[in-house]
Amino acid sequence: MPLALQTSPSARHHCGCGSLYRDDPAFAAPPVEALTSEEAANLSTMREEEKVARDVYLRLFDRWGLRPFGNISGSEQTHMDMLLILLDRYGLPDPVRRLDAGVFQSPTMQKLHDTLVARGLQSESEAICVGLLIEELDIADLQHAAQHTNKPDILMVFARLERGSRNHLRAFHRWMRGLGAHYVPIHLSQAAFSAIAHSGHEPCG
Ligand code: ZN
Ligand code: ZN
Repeated sequence: MPLALQTSPSARHHCGCGSLYRDDPAFAAPPVEALTSEEAANLSTMREEEKVARDVYLRLFDRWGLRPFGNISGSEQTHMDMLLILLDRYGLPDPVRRLDAGVFQSPTMQKLHDTLVARGLQSESEAICVGLLIEELDIADLQHAAQHTNKPDILMVFARLERGSRNHLRAFHRWMRGLGAHYVPIHLSQAAFSAIAHSGHEPCG
């Protein structure tokens, strides 16, 4: 285990970045426009995907006790909360309402969760690779969703989630190197993945 990483200053900054957005002007007034069906579907999917991240990290933290899974699962809860605010704001149902950790209504999300947990339970290195996979998937899906909306409140939340995901990816990448593991991205290009992994932590705005 790379002990040096546990005490690096950046290891303390995985969480947060979600507490100030209620004060943003984008949230000052009720929404003026209804969502398109695509915007609504994307909000719902992202809420489920953040729950996949949270629940997989909780399970892998339980198994391996590696610090990033503990820190980052808390950050994923913040991401879930931000999406719930948006769903409420637009009068949409919560797709994960009252669902326990590890439980999903959507068969696709259930399978994604179960597959990633099974892989992450194989070894510490595989667990860290699962973290990298979730974060690059999250970034790719947030970028896609952001391209299909012009609503300032939604774009602001997506930007915050994406920044958080980039920081999570950096944290998992440091651990990957510490463990001597290797990871090939499948949702982002290698160039895009490397550019994020090798750039510095982004502080909360
Ligand atoms: Zn997230
Ligand atoms: Zn994340």
